[in-house]
Amino acid sequence: MFDVILKGGEINDGSGADGYTGDVAIKGGIIAEVGEVDATYASQIIDVSGLVVSPGFIDMHTHSDFTLIADGRAESQVHQGVTTEVIGQCGVSCAPVCSHEAIRTVAPWYTDKAKHAHWHGFGEYLDALDATDLGVNVMAFVGHGTIHRAVLGDELRAGEPDEVNEMARLVDQCMDEGAGGFSSGLEYFPGILAAPEHLVPMCEVAAKYNRLYATHVRNRDTHYDLGFTEAMATARQSGAKLQISHIQPKFGAPGHAMEHTLEMIDVARNHDADIAFDVIPHDWNHTLMAAILPKWAQAGGIDELLKRLIIPENREKIKANPQPMWLIVKARKWKDIVLLNATENKDIVGMDFEEIGRMRGIDPYDAVLDILLEEGENMMSCMWSSKSFRDSDLDLCLQQPECAVISDTVAITNDGILKDHIGSLSGYGWAARFLQYYVRDRNVLSLAEGLRKITSIPAKRLGLKKRGELKPGFHADICVFDQANIASNATARDPRRYASGVAHVLVNGKLSMHNGKRTPVNGGQVLREFAA
Ligand SMILES: [Zn+2]
Repeated sequence: MFDVILKGGEINDGSGADGYTGDVAIKGGIIAEVGEVDATYASQIIDVSGLVVSPGFIDMHTHSDFTLIADGRAESQVHQGVTTEVIGQCGVSCAPVCSHEAIRTVAPWYTDKAKHAHWHGFGEYLDALDATDLGVNVMAFVGHGTIHRAVLGDELRAGEPDEVNEMARLVDQCMDEGAGGFSSGLEYFPGILAAPEHLVPMCEVAAKYNRLYATHVRNRDTHYDLGFTEAMATARQSGAKLQISHIQPKFGAPGHAMEHTLEMIDVARNHDADIAFDVIPHDWNHTLMAAILPKWAQAGGIDELLKRLIIPENREKIKANPQPMWLIVKARKWKDIVLLNATENKDIVGMDFEEIGRMRGIDPYDAVLDILLEEGENMMSCMWSSKSFRDSDLDLCLQQPECAVISDTVAITNDGILKDHIGSLSGYGWAARFLQYYVRDRNVLSLAEGLRKITSIPAKRLGLKKRGELKPGFHADICVFDQANIASNATARDPRRYASGVAHVLVNGKLSMHNGKRTPVNGGQVLREFAA
């Protein structure tokens, strides 16, 4: 007797093979049969004719480390068919920490409104996550930035050899307790302080466990080639498998940057390097607004930073920064930069900075610094978005067989304590937009290949056991959607609208979306064991 049979859908098993009409039978959270199934023996039969039946989507790069603790429902993800996500990216994770007070300083998208357990170590953090009702499965990487802070606090230095050894020891402990990989964010503080010699000992730990080193490289515009070779050198020296996160070059990179980057990767592969990468399926980029501040301005934490931002000479020095994180700011393309999230400035969210500057009667750059000041304590949840990527670069990436597709966002819910949060412009619709815009409307890749990029490619790369394909014996993480109607509904002014076109979602065999509506069931769990 099966629990559920999905009857007569177009099965795309995630392997990249062409779809075919068939059934999927589920029992005890596991896929029991795929193909033609005798429907007499099931508690529930769901007619899915005319719909695509795919493995649930795997988002291998998110920042939901704290949002899932605050509210585990992950509605933004479940509504678009995501069943597993991987947190702890770009060097940022919620653990390990030296003190309970430190949690708020390392946790991305932290909010005081969330009542949460307290932790020190990574295993304790995973326990806290597991104690929440999770809408999706979660795999967690440990971030270099958090490890650095655990050893050196806010000190503006990369660490002496004995301190780096202590960082590596912590990474080892985290992996032993269930961290699925190691990440760095070399464009952010404190990752910006680290050279390969500081990262290699930590990457060696990842290599020992056969887990990924995922990196947000140092630069993806003028010095893109240095940023990517640094990542490859670090991986080569340590023996770690490399995942280059959101590889697409940013505004300010030369036109050939994407092609050149792929050539560099090809050359490294000829010498046995294990390298893959992923992209965000959107031409709008997003980040913390505070990332525009040079590192001298950020030293000593938020309180010091706020004091510095008041002083006129400091502001002029910040504005004169020749190499800010976003060159689109230096180019003053204010029309192509919008405020995406703010606490004290909610009324202007969705406006571009040309408008904001005009409204306030000041230079848009001063408006940026004023807004950061006004946000104060909440500065680190203040986000902006810019038109920084080119579709031609994205298309080229998407055509590479090893390219995965990611959200780079946070799992949130538009009611409850996270209702005012936002991760990115595509947060509520990255997978939907990928299948809508790149696969269906523009035909950059086939449906089977597109689905592979958000199912079996990430599953294999991450070492997820028995996930990412529709096969007997695999976990029943499944998304059933209408290919003609799948769509992202998020816009800059209204970024919190759920995607549409997803009919049914099963997470570990539990029906989380049914007939286009979310059920109260949260079937996700923390994943702590991976293929060695
Ligand atoms: Zn990143």
